[in-house]
Amino acid sequence: MSADGRRRARPHALDKRAHDPLIHTMTALDVRSARKDQLIAGETGDWEVIVGLEVHAQVTSKAKLFSGASAEYGGSPNTHVSLVDAAMPGMLPVINKFCVEQAVRTGLGLKAQINARSRFDRKNYFYPDLPQGYQISQFQHPIVGEGEVEIEADGEAVTIRIERLHLEQDAGKSIHDLSPSETFVDLNRAGVALMEIVSRPDMRSSKEAGAYFNKLRSIVRALGTCDGNMEEGSMRADVNVSVRRAGTKEWGTRCEIKNVNSVRFMAQAIEYEARRQIEILEGGGTIDQETRLFDPDKGETRTMRSKEDAHDYRYFPDPDLLPLVLEKKWIEEIRASLPELPDAKKKRFEDAYGLSPYDAGVLAGDADSAAYFETVANGRDAKLAANWVTQEVFGALNKAGLDLAQSPVSAAQLGALIDLIKDGTINGKIAKDVFAKMMETGDDPGAIVEREGLKQVTDSGAILKAIDDLIAANPDKIEDLKKNPKAFGWWVGQVMKATGGKANPAAVNALLKQKLPI
Ligand code: MN
Repeated sequence: MSADGRRRARPHALDKRAHDPLIHTMTALDVRSARKDQLIAGETGDWEVIVGLEVHAQVTSKAKLFSGASAEYGGSPNTHVSLVDAAMPGMLPVINKFCVEQAVRTGLGLKAQINARSRFDRKNYFYPDLPQGYQISQFQHPIVGEGEVEIEADGEAVTIRIERLHLEQDAGKSIHDLSPSETFVDLNRAGVALMEIVSRPDMRSSKEAGAYFNKLRSIVRALGTCDGNMEEGSMRADVNVSVRRAGTKEWGTRCEIKNVNSVRFMAQAIEYEARRQIEILEGGGTIDQETRLFDPDKGETRTMRSKEDAHDYRYFPDPDLLPLVLEKKWIEEIRASLPELPDAKKKRFEDAYGLSPYDAGVLAGDADSAAYFETVANGRDAKLAANWVTQEVFGALNKAGLDLAQSPVSAAQLGALIDLIKDGTINGKIAKDVFAKMMETGDDPGAIVEREGLKQVTDSGAILKAIDDLIAANPDKIEDLKKNPKAFGWWVGQVMKATGGKANPAAVNALLKQKLPI
């Protein structure tokens, strides 16, 4: 990248395909209709819901977009603030090259057009947490143009088109709940780099919207361009919702639901909003284009303000910043350094490890899960490894409310447990008990097996002794078995019980078949 320092540069001769991001849902071509099962039944017929998402993803970077202040989350109020962020008179923004690189990397991960020339504009509005009085954003000439994201919804592959990705500054934060009569402002977040990723209105249900958001999250996490931490607000979505009668092509008026920060809330907001609009339209009313807020406590959306249009912001090129000019060679270097992305990883997990599409999708969708699984599967039965990770590990972590990164059982320890099953040291049932103890204590499986005497009994003498004792004590059960061969299961269970669950199940079955009258 180089800022174009030539005075004769003509900022207006930029990418001609760029267009107004705020009117995209009105002009976009409609390429698909909702499936039958996605339609919403109204009083007067079926309706289609149309969803487009504008996702704000915070760029993973040490410093802010136009200043050297820390971009780290948290910190005491107003400690991560440079004179630029505080908009002191005469301060000048300087573009952070790494943030630009992250945006390019994300664009490449979204299979998008990278615009060699882009430009920063001022989006003017007044708010106490915006000391400049404008946000530096990219309006007509974003750094990334059209791309696409593949999602899967109800087993069907759907392509969601990306319209653009642009870089912009985040605002600060107004704090209203520290004092009954005053509002405080914390500028730590002011100036932090955001990527606004705008989709086309290609989603036809809350499920598709959720799948798209999750896919986007897994892509940026794999790329290392955004941590996807939704509790810290690193990813949040503005959700555009409109409805139209099934089978029609005309766009309905949309409402935008601001700053939704969880997939669950997004689904609730879309469903509430679609029904609200259907009710109004069926009652003969019209939808006002407006910005709404979702209230998670009430599960409803409500008016925030009537929707502003692009011209309300008086966008104009920021005179403090030159157009951003990227060198082709630099873009290609970034392309060459891209990591394996979730779609490619999923395919490799299916091909190389023989996993089901479902397991492959679950494991490849998250970088931590994928790395954990591959460590366990290395040199071992991959399907068995996948089962242990997706069922036992994820199940136990879920129950304990922990992330994989906080797992008491490391991938190496889980691998060692699977080795103990494979070499016959313990059976599968005991392995689950050992795993539960590993989750509790974080100890190695070998140490637990040793300490608690859980080694599998393969010695046929010990198993035969248990069988003989059972036969002697249960003559009536022998008679039962002659009439009902299904009673065999009872004998297997009793021998396992008599050996503390440690007997080799295959040996128990074989020896019982020799000894019993079946
Ligand atoms: Mn924005």
